[in-house]
Amino acid sequence: MSRTTNRPARSAFASTLCAALCMALCAVAAASCSAAPRDRADLVIGTVCSVRILDGGDRRALDAAFERLRGIEASMSANAEGTVVAAINAGAGAVPVPAPADVRYVIRKALSYAELSGGAFDPTIGPVVKLWNIGMDGERIPAPEEIAEALPLVDASAVAVDDAASTVFLPRAGMMLDLGAIAKGYAADEVARVLLEHRVKAAVVDLGGNVKVVGRKPDGSPWRIGIQDPFDDRGSRIGIAELEGGATVVTSGVYERYFIGDDGAHYHHILDPATGYPARNGLVSVTVISSSSIDADGLSTTLFSLGLERGMALVETLDHVEAVFIDEDRRVYQSSGAGKLFKLDNPAFTLTALPSR
Ligand code: ADP
Ligand code: MG
Repeated sequence: MSRTTNRPARSAFASTLCAALCMALCAVAAASCSAAPRDRADLVIGTVCSVRILDGGDRRALDAAFERLRGIEASMSANAEGTVVAAINAGAGAVPVPAPADVRYVIRKALSYAELSGGAFDPTIGPVVKLWNIGMDGERIPAPEEIAEALPLVDASAVAVDDAASTVFLPRAGMMLDLGAIAKGYAADEVARVLLEHRVKAAVVDLGGNVKVVGRKPDGSPWRIGIQDPFDDRGSRIGIAELEGGATVVTSGVYERYFIGDDGAHYHHILDPATGYPARNGLVSVTVISSSSIDADGLSTTLFSLGLERGMALVETLDHVEAVFIDEDRRVYQSSGAGKLFKLDNPAFTLTALPSR
């Protein structure tokens, strides 16, 4: 199985993360020569996290923000030992496991997206994620029998969250929670909260492309956040969203984590819980613009997994949430309110209307 090497900024492999981190730190170093902003970038929660303060706060705000990120990693990572999520998974089929309020909050949110999506989003996808191991050592195409064995363990409706007892229980041995589709969004909301608590007046939080803007820019202009071109290197845009403070822009895409199988096919990390294989529906990315990053993260994965038509239908039922879908033919589809926030300016892409039904 070969890894792709032509687009190093695209995957979440450790070496690539290190390279990205170096670039981010160089940017920080460059910025620190100039007068104002206080920046920091570090590898946490499995991705490059950067915080740039433009107004207010001080170094303690950055310390507190990264401490919170490490706390979230220590409780919510499914890939590390000793986390609360690992303990819940180890207790599957045996015992309810103590879980603090923040972990239960994120799990409840994930379960709500499982319900909203009719199962296209499912945080109990863990056993299937582990089979593929996409973006980790040992990534591979599992045998169909392995997938058939893992799929019955994927069942969000079986998860028991008990707020009175402060526990979470997975009722069947082998079940595994994976909060990878939503924890980064929660982390972005938490970093924003911590920064405001430390009297930060303006900041940009970027957790591996999951962006949240905090407060008002010192010059009073709107925040301008690019939407990633899924076919080009990180940092290339298809257009820019102009946003108020508190807004978030979250993208789920096939380029985030993937590998090329021995069969030459592209296998990415958003899995269809119905089949156990990467969701293949013609989409290459879905971006959600909203104010809650946990919701935007849950939704971007949900909309991707649902596909263009069902995803667009769902987003149109939600208030204060806009979405931009990009398909493999470089067609861009936007929800009815997205045009007020986002302008497509990359001529390689075509703004396209969904055929009315
Ligand atoms: P990213 O981590 O690149 O921001 P997403 O938010 O879309 O991307 O989350 C993808 C991750 O979510 C996968 O790496 C996996 O851990 C998990 N996952 C994959 N498929 C699903 C699914 N259908 N429902 C819920 N979680 C999923
Ligand atoms: Mg997500």
